[in-house]
Amino acid sequence: MNWALIGASTIAGQYMIGAIRAQSESEIEWVISGNAEHAAAFATTHGIPNASTDLDAALADNGVTAVYISSTNEKHFAQAKAAISAGKHVLCEKPLSTSIAEAAQMIQAAETAGVVLGVNHHLRCAGSHRTIHDLISSGRIGRVLSVRVFHAVHLPEHLRGWRLDSPSAGGGVIPDLTVHNADTVRFLLGEDPHSVTAEMAATGMGKGVEDSAMSIWTMPSGAMVFSHDSFNHPHAASGVEVHGTEGSILAQGIMAQEPVGRIELVTAEGSANVPFDKAGIYETAVREFESAVAHGSAPAATGEDGLKSLQVAEAVRRAAETGTRQMVNYGVAE
Ligand code: NDP
Repeated sequence: MNWALIGASTIAGQYMIGAIRAQSESEIEWVISGNAEHAAAFATTHGIPNASTDLDAALADNGVTAVYISSTNEKHFAQAKAAISAGKHVLCEKPLSTSIAEAAQMIQAAETAGVVLGVNHHLRCAGSHRTIHDLISSGRIGRVLSVRVFHAVHLPEHLRGWRLDSPSAGGGVIPDLTVHNADTVRFLLGEDPHSVTAEMAATGMGKGVEDSAMSIWTMPSGAMVFSHDSFNHPHAASGVEVHGTEGSILAQGIMAQEPVGRIELVTAEGSANVPFDKAGIYETAVREFESAVAHGSAPAATGEDGLKSLQVAEAVRRAAETGTRQMVNYGVAE
């Protein structure tokens, strides 16, 4: 499969180029950036044959089957729409868009064009998260009572740009990390949050955007979820805890880009470490996306998953802004 990268980004350079090239017979033919010099330098660094600021040039290349979009968030919609119109399959970074209505249009456009739209909610591709999912769905911890997601990190120096000071580019911790938590909880429990309460704050890093958020969600089953996201926690550890009537799953270090961390299962019989697959997380995401294109299966996270994580994140923002519990609206907003 031949790819064009739209956005000469850190995530593309650090993870996705390697993940695409790890697939047999997958090539990266183009990189498109808003800045010609940056595109050229990125292409040289990563051995990509074509670099341009002209998206249409890459989309006119009949050899290109799919695009990976990792530009800043406000660009995802127009770039995805253009790619879909050109008949390309689209793997888009999260958040799918900065607007729910745009995200819904992307899904509709992909359906109409008959192309695959996937979202890079990579955590559901991690062996750790898949193992927790299987423990829950096989009944090992009984009925789920509560989930706690710890996603307070220290944003690395080289990423302290638009995420911290540009609301228009989709900055802030809610579009960055709360969307991942939303997808993770939906994936682990197999249900969609029903209502949320929340608080958000700028604690020293965010300039015009929130750098921290805490929220509590209620699931249709009655399970309660606590979600903690921050860019400004230098010494915290990430993790997920799932507590059920028959056991608890305590997972540390798994809200990560690498297949790391540990999972402990605690039941009446005692506590045990649970092994999990350590395959590359982004490699799995790309493999399942390519398989969706080739065989008509679903990608790991669909456009609909991306829309729902955005709808949860929007409800968290509204709850924090208004100080009022919000029902999550899964309809398509204006
Ligand atoms: P970056 O800040 O690294 O890149 C975003 C854009 O900034 C690039 O596409 C590029 O614009 C521009 N840019 C970056 N460096 C330069 C430079 N030196 N000169 C000129 N322009 C530059 O963002 P991230 O890689 O952190 O994030 C990109 C997207 O990926 C976001 O949507 C984010 O939410 C998502 N993401 C997802 C992750 C996941 O695990 N699923 C992890 C990290 C990010 P242009 O488009 O014009 O090339």
